[in-house]
Amino acid sequence: MSGFIITQFRVGEYQTNCYIILETASNECLIVDPTQETEFIIDQIQKIKGIPKGIILTHGHFDHMLEVFALEKLLDVDTWMSQKDESIKDRMKQTAEHFLGHVVIAVPPQRLKWMNDIQKIPLGSSYVEIIETPGHTPGGISIVIPTIGIIVGDLMFHEGIVGRTDFSYSDKKQLALSIKKILTYPDDYILYPGHGRLTTVGFERAFHENI
Ligand SMILES: [Zn+2]
Repeated sequence: MSGFIITQFRVGEYQTNCYIILETASNECLIVDPTQETEFIIDQIQKIKGIPKGIILTHGHFDHMLEVFALEKLLDVDTWMSQKDESIKDRMKQTAEHFLGHVVIAVPPQRLKWMNDIQKIPLGSSYVEIIETPGHTPGGISIVIPTIGIIVGDLMFHEGIVGRTDFSYSDKKQLALSIKKILTYPDDYILYPGHGRLTTVGFERAFHENI
């Protein structure tokens, strides 16, 4: 029977949540936001006997994709992201060095495939669905894993915390609309944020009553 197992790890200097979505009938998997600790991530994929089918980036910030270039090569897979974050991705080295305060070897992903709204990415006998959830960045997307939950990137976090909108390209109103979109899903859907603890749609609904 088809089902999914979601594995979460905190990786890199920003303790970014990296997720592996494994489809249990085929063992095919997708890797979401694997920023750093590439060897560790590959070990984890091997541990669950995953067959990597691709990388998905929830948005174009460097703390979600620092070593994706290396992972693409080692796993021989492509990377899906929104083209609306292309310019943010192109500046990743400068931005990373600014925030981290040291020189980084940062090559943007090279095997890019652009995603559209309501796009289904096949995984074994099933699929995951991409929905556009802009606001934190213009190209922010969320990944809906049918019957399980949603990987929301830096759109929203545990206990009503919302994504940063103080960047020049951020949009507070769009962020609010994107959160509303997430809250239309069932209460028991797990929310998998880009940093910090997991939560659920039902638990977060109370924090966003006035959004
Ligand atoms: Zn971000």
